[in-house]
Amino acid sequence: MKIAFIGLGHMGGPMAANLAAKGFAVTGFDIVPANLEKAAGQGVAAAKSAEDAVEGAEAVITMVPAGQHVLDLYRHILKSARPKTLFIDCSTIDVASAREAHGLAQRARLQSLDAPVSGGTAGAAAATLTFMVGGEKSAFERGQPILAAMGKRIVHCGAAGAGQAAKICNNMILGISMIAVSEAFVLAEKLGLDAQALYDVASAASGQCWSLTTYCPVPGVGPKSPADNDYRPGFAAALMLKDLALAQQAAEETGAATPLGAHAEQLYRRFNEEGGATQDFSAIIRHLAASSRE
Ligand code: NAD
Repeated sequence: MKIAFIGLGHMGGPMAANLAAKGFAVTGFDIVPANLEKAAGQGVAAAKSAEDAVEGAEAVITMVPAGQHVLDLYRHILKSARPKTLFIDCSTIDVASAREAHGLAQRARLQSLDAPVSGGTAGAAAATLTFMVGGEKSAFERGQPILAAMGKRIVHCGAAGAGQAAKICNNMILGISMIAVSEAFVLAEKLGLDAQALYDVASAASGQCWSLTTYCPVPGVGPKSPADNDYRPGFAAALMLKDLALAQQAAEETGAATPLGAHAEQLYRRFNEEGGATQDFSAIIRHLAASSRE
């Protein structure tokens, strides 16, 4: 099966390489020549342009930074696609743009899915990503074997845009819960309560959550996490800010009340501006500790 893969960056590069390793005929394109060359060394045929990559493909995957990139690409490449080609956008983008991308594909009589991922660059390399998928059932069934070559969990979340909706709702929980856990440890320290004691109580009590028990922001407490590696990502604070901003954009558009989501976005924005962007998102605990009164 011939697949076009557009956007061969940190995520798209290894995802395309996994498809090629599993026997798909992958033709790739990226506007950064070095990324294209790297993918070419991993079994991906290099195309001269996005349109060139799409010609003759049965499925087209895009993995680019934001909604505008996806829409610009779709406006250029849909006309190069042969009838019934399946378009799968794996980028994390706003729900409104995802729905618009589906609309463009539909008007061109092509099938489409929004299929954002979680699992990060490690999951992309190991083909263990989780895909959250939105689109028609028949498109999902066609896309499933392709996504299975790049991930281990593939969830059909509903109609167009439902994959992006699931992703930003989940990551809003994650951002808020990481701040909640971090605030508890900052307060515990001020109260003279040992971090390990708080962990032992809360991890087996009603404060239990993933940010505490799997990804504890305090070094030396709980299972190994980025906190034990000087907060190297992991999941960078810049990406958490991106997802919280997408959640706020969706809340604004729909009128959903998300006051804690809004506050989490503000806190992560400040943390990013003050130099935290490339640190793991759990390093927000340092920012909170530094903001505390002496
Ligand atoms: P990246 O910047 O490394 O890769 C994006 C690639 O798209 C770049 O190589 C860029 O040159 C290319 N590109 C942009 N416009 C293009 C165009 N018109 N034609 C061809 N190529 C184009 O970003 P990434 O980390 O790979 O992330 C990609 C997407 O996945 C983003 O939406 C991001 O939010 C999401 N995501 C990233 C992670 C992560 O851990 N990095 C995790 C989950 C989701």
